[in-house]
Amino acid sequence: MNKKFDIVVIGSGPGGYVSAIRNAQLGYRTAIVEKYDVLGGTCTNVGCIPSKALLDSTEHYFQAKHKFDQHGITYSELQLNFNQLMTRKNEVVNQNNNGLKYLMDKNNIEIIHGFASFLNNETINVISEGNDPIIVSSDKFIIATGSKPTSIPGVKIDKKRIITSTEALNLATVPKSMVIIGGGVIGVEMASIFNRIDVKVTILEYADNLIPTMDSDLGKTLKRIMTKEGINVKLNKKVQSAENKGDYVQVTYANSKGEIHTIDTDYVLVATGRKPYTQGLGLENTVIQTDTSGRIITNAQLQTTEPAIYAIGDVVSGPMLAHKAEEEGVFVAEIINGQKPHMNYDLIPSVVYTWPEVASVGKTEQELIKANIKFKKSKVPISFLGRARAAAEKDGFVKVLSDPKYGELLGVHLIAPRAADLISTAVVGMEYEVTDIDMTNISYPHPSYAEAMKEAFLSVSGKGTISL
Ligand SMILES: Cc1cc2nc3c(=O)[nH]c(=O)nc-3n(C[C@H](O)[C@H](O)[C@H](O)COP(=O)(O)OP(=O)(O)OC[C@H]3O[C@@H](n4cnc5c(N)ncnc54)[C@H](O)[C@@H]3O)c2cc1C
Repeated sequence: MNKKFDIVVIGSGPGGYVSAIRNAQLGYRTAIVEKYDVLGGTCTNVGCIPSKALLDSTEHYFQAKHKFDQHGITYSELQLNFNQLMTRKNEVVNQNNNGLKYLMDKNNIEIIHGFASFLNNETINVISEGNDPIIVSSDKFIIATGSKPTSIPGVKIDKKRIITSTEALNLATVPKSMVIIGGGVIGVEMASIFNRIDVKVTILEYADNLIPTMDSDLGKTLKRIMTKEGINVKLNKKVQSAENKGDYVQVTYANSKGEIHTIDTDYVLVATGRKPYTQGLGLENTVIQTDTSGRIITNAQLQTTEPAIYAIGDVVSGPMLAHKAEEEGVFVAEIINGQKPHMNYDLIPSVVYTWPEVASVGKTEQELIKANIKFKKSKVPISFLGRARAAAEKDGFVKVLSDPKYGELLGVHLIAPRAADLISTAVVGMEYEVTDIDMTNISYPHPSYAEAMKEAFLSVSGKGTISL
């Protein structure tokens, strides 16, 4: 069978489905090709959505078990129904899958299920089990094939006991223990999920801090909170091997002095990063180039070295985040349409959905020091807030870095309840280049966690009263 479109998007993750919708809105006859039976990619099926569903459920359990009594709530028996926890998570994922199918149909986007492979720069072959191959040609293609987990030397993912976040989000029973290799965003979120349901969790992190790409104050505070909650956080540890011994895994690591230690554990969860996914995509039948990390090389318009083929999301450079992929999906559609869209890579917020949450935008203090950029800073604890006391949520801070002369906001970093929502205020401010003082000239609701943002802006602009 042959099909012809104006635009074909390969991959239905947040990059792909958002791009398909924008292309269709702009009047292009659009198709989306997805190798799995459901739409949504990593984010919807094995990433953002299921992890957040389990983070929310397990936080409720943890709160009930450890924090309810201070509110005067006691109970005779608290039980965890792990099956129900997973069923709810699956239902949430299904609702999102169905929502995406609805959006594709509503926008007259043709969904083609099957594995796409370029035959040349204007045609792909789509193969699905039990069906004849479909030859799809198009004026333009948008590659949004995402990423897959990657490991480190000595650790082979077997998907049985040496697993990734994908398998961890679908475990059938609660393990007794888990070693997580990597204390980055995915590592600390997975550690939170399992620690809260009484799994003995150890994080082995190579760097000297958790979430090491973010402002170092965030990682330090997060380590203190996670340790207090029972997670064994081991920094400066280099994992050398993980061996599946049948009913347990033996992990070997070296400490900073080179001394070797072992841990026996039920599962090892490898959270050492993800790599772009272009396997089987037939790039060799085009002139598309990839870099040494396997990312598809594009120009500033996200156009590959094949002028009619664009690439977005995890498969190209930049942070591997759903909202970055979405922005690029819209950007590329509008570029194809001859518009002049705007995309500010410096202001893509990073968020970690631990509790409290961590969020960040702009430059870290360490980046400013390294680049020899002058800055002033404020760091305000959230414990002073009436809202924090009322909720008994007193861990965290807001840190603002701004230009000493003009007050331009350079970076905002916070660890606080609902930090993921709070960071948007800073993104708006930074995008429209308002100053630290400008940020104090608006009204913040009382009582709210947002008042810590206000106090941090006041403090950095010299008008504050509370600072760490
Ligand atoms: C556990 C976890 C939690 C995460 N949490 C967050 C979060 O809270 N916030 C956030 O911003 N990001 C989060 N991420 C990252 C986020 O999931 C990714 O950045 C995002 O999914 C990237 O979107 P994408 O469209 O580039 O690719 P993907 O979502 O990976 O989608 C790519 C799609 O392409 C399909 N595909 C690949 N090759 C082919 C082919 N040849 N033919 C047909 N189809 C193909 C794949 O099947 C897949 O469906 C998380 C990731 C993980 C693993």
